[in-house]
Parts: sequence; C-alpha cells; structure tokens
Amino acid sequence: MIDKTKIEQAAALLLEGMGEDVGREGLKETPKRIARMYEELFAGMDQSPKEHLEKTFSIQGNGMVLEKDIVFYSICEHHLLPFYGKAHIAYLPDGKVVGLSKLARTVEVYARRLQIQEQLTTQIADALMEYLQPKGVMVMLEAEHMCMTMRGVKKPGTQTVTLETRGLFAQEEKLQEDFWHMMDR
Ligand code: ZN
Repeated sequence: MIDKTKIEQAAALLLEGMGEDVGREGLKETPKRIARMYEELFAGMDQSPKEHLEKTFSIQGNGMVLEKDIVFYSICEHHLLPFYGKAHIAYLPDGKVVGLSKLARTVEVYARRLQIQEQLTTQIADALMEYLQPKGVMVMLEAEHMCMTMRGVKKPGTQTVTLETRGLFAQEEKLQEDFWHMMDR
C-alpha cells in the first residue's frame, strides 16, 4: 500500500538534497504531485490478475489466440526510471478464453509496480497459466529503458526483448514458429 505522506516527505527531501529551494513557486506543489503520480504509477501493487482472468468463456476451437502490441509503461526498480514498450501475448485455449481486454489488464497489474523486464514477462506468463489454465502460453516483451538511453551507456533506441514460454509452447518448436509468423503479419 502506497503511503502518500511518506512519499511527499521523501520527494521534498530529494529536492533539498539537490540543493533546491523547496519553497520556491515552481516546486511548492511538486512533492504532492509526485505522491499522487506514484499512487497511479504503482496502482498494480494492490491488484491481482485474478480479478481480470476469473471470468472466462467456453469455446469449441483450440487455435492460438495472439494479442499483440499491448503498450505498457513500467518503472525499473534499479533506477526508478521508466521502461516502456509493447507486450505480445499468445495462448492455446483449453476450452476457455478470456475477454481480449483482460490480457492488457493483466499486463497493467504487473507493469504498474517496481519492476525488471524479465520478471514482468515471467509474471504475465505465470498468471495466464494459473488462472486461465491454457495448454500453453508465450509472452514476448520489447521495451526501451530510460536508464539505458538517458544515462549510463546512453544508447537511444535500444530495445530489450524478453521471452517466456509455458506448456506446449515450451515443448513444440512448431508452435513458436506459428507465433513468429502471426507476429509478422
Ligand atoms: Zn534501470
């Protein structure tokens, strides 16, 4: 649970540490603003994907479902800087599917926390396996990290790609090929 008072105090201290005058006009409301913003950016900390993946629909078919280009924004836990990009999620239903928006909601639950991209990818894949119980899941994330582009090695445009497979996707190469073909279209 976010403690807005503490964040506000910490933001003021941070500004002081930077040698700023926290009382000057432009900064007066900044600690409050940061506290409100953090509440939004880290809203996923109080959420579970369960609430989004619980409601499923029965289906006859068993073809792959791929939702691609789900835009996400997250914050890296090493530098508190944003990383953002796209998530691509595929699963093989075992008699049931979820509403398409629920996949994006699941991404949101985990993206709106302090994260590293590898863990974010793993958590999305595991949540789908746990709550939707499909025959397999494949999750790919591609993202740009501000801690790599704005500071440090300063390489703008560098994309970090992470991949997780579960179930049949981990066992059958053909299914992974199908995923890449569907991504290309
Ligand atoms: Zn970082």
